[in-house]
Amino acid sequence: MKKAFITKDKAEEIAKVIPTPFHVYDEAGMRANAEAVKKAFAWNPGFREYFAVKANPNPFILSILKEYDCGADCSSLTELQISHALDFDGAHIMFSSNDTPFEEYEYANKIGAIINLDDITHIDFCEKACGGKLPETMSCRFNPGGVFTLSNGIMDNPGDAKYGMTREQIAEAYKIMMSKGVKHFGIHAFLASNTVTNEYYGKLAGQLFELAVELHNETGADIKFINLSGGVGIAYKPDQTPNDIAVIGENVHKVFDEILVPAGMGDMSIYTEMGRFMMAPYGGVVTRAVHEKHIYKEYIGADACAANLMRPAIYGAYHHITVLGKEDAPCDHKYDVTGSLCENCDKFAIDRMLPKIEMGDLLFIHDSGAHGYSMGYNYNGRLRSAEVLLQSDGSFKKIRRAETPMDYYATFDEFDIYNKLKAEN
Ligand SMILES: *Cc1c(COP(=O)(O)O)cnc(C)c1O
Repeated sequence: MKKAFITKDKAEEIAKVIPTPFHVYDEAGMRANAEAVKKAFAWNPGFREYFAVKANPNPFILSILKEYDCGADCSSLTELQISHALDFDGAHIMFSSNDTPFEEYEYANKIGAIINLDDITHIDFCEKACGGKLPETMSCRFNPGGVFTLSNGIMDNPGDAKYGMTREQIAEAYKIMMSKGVKHFGIHAFLASNTVTNEYYGKLAGQLFELAVELHNETGADIKFINLSGGVGIAYKPDQTPNDIAVIGENVHKVFDEILVPAGMGDMSIYTEMGRFMMAPYGGVVTRAVHEKHIYKEYIGADACAANLMRPAIYGAYHHITVLGKEDAPCDHKYDVTGSLCENCDKFAIDRMLPKIEMGDLLFIHDSGAHGYSMGYNYNGRLRSAEVLLQSDGSFKKIRRAETPMDYYATFDEFDIYNKLKAEN
C-alpha cells in the first residue's frame, strides 16, 4: 500500500493559497531518509552523498540536504551556479557532465568543483578551460561496455550508453593526467538506472574496487574516491519492495573489506550521487479533476499535464495515484487520467483502477520529488506549476511560484508582448 504523505484537508488548505496544480515536498520524510543514507555509510569516514541536482534543483530542497553534509552533483552551468550560490564549497560540488561546453569547465574550475571527466579527449579541452593547468584532484568516468545484469533480471546496457571511458582509455587517461600534474584521482560509473534491488551498489562497487586496485598497480595513481553515482531506485509501484539503504550500505562495506582493505587501499572514500532515492518519494503533484469524458474509455481530465510531470508521457513510467479523501474507498473504476497537452501520450495513468472520481476531487500523483518538476517543459505554452514545502511542523511554505504567461514571453526580446497586452487592460 502506498500512502500519500498529505491529507485532503491539508491539500485543500494549500490550494486556497496556491492554486492547483502544484508539487508538494515532505520535509520530514526527506530529512529522515537523508539521515538514513548517512548512517548506512557511516562505516566509511570519507563518505559523501552528492545529491544529483538535476533531480530537483530547488534551492530550499538543496539547502535542507546540505544540512546532512550532502554535496551537489552538477552537470550544467546553471546547476553549478545554484550550488555555488548556496555556498556549497568546491569539495562539495561534483561536476559530472558529458559533451561539456568549454565555459562550464571554466566555471567549474573557478569555483573549485571536482571535475569528473567523461572522456579521454576532454583532458586537453579541460586543461585549456582551466587556464592551462588541471586541478590537483580529478575523476574519470568508466564505462565497462557490454550489459550489466543483476540477479532479479534488472539489466542495463553500458555498451550502448554514451557515457564514460573504456578500460584501456581510463588507464591511459590517468597516465596523461598524472603527467599534467593531477595528484589525486576518483573513479565514477553509472551502469544501471532505477534499480529496485539492494544488490546494485554492492555489485557496482565490487567492479570499481577491483578496477581501482588494477589502475593503482598499473599507473601508480593515488586513487582517493570511488563514486557509485546514481541509479538506486524507488518503489514507484505499490507491489514493489522498496530498497533498504542500510542493507545497500552493508553490501558495499562487505566488498570494500574484501577487495580494498587487503590491497592496502582501505582509506578510500565512497561517494554517491543519488537523485531519485534522495527525493522521489518525498514529492507529489496535487492536481484537481476538472473534466470527465465518456467515449470508448473513461477519462478524467486533471489540471496538471506532462509539462508538470513528464515521466509517464516520455517513458510510460508508472506513478501511483491516490484520490485524496478516498484512501479507503474501493478501486472499482477504470480510468485514463489525462493532462491537457495536444499529445495522446499526456496521460498520468492508463486503465488505472481508482475510486469513483467526482469533479473537484484532488488527486495526488506520487513520487514526483525527483525528475518531476525539473523535467518540466513548456510545450503547448503550458506553464510550470508552483512548488510547496510541507514543513516538518505541519505548516507549508511556497518555495517556487507558478510561472505566469509573462515568464513564457520573457525571451521574445524583439517582440514586446508584455507592453502590448498591458496596454489592452
Ligand atoms: C542522473 C544522474 C544521477 C542521479 O541519478 P538517479 O537515478 O536520480 O539517482 C547521478 N549522477 C549522474 C552523473 C547523473 O547523470
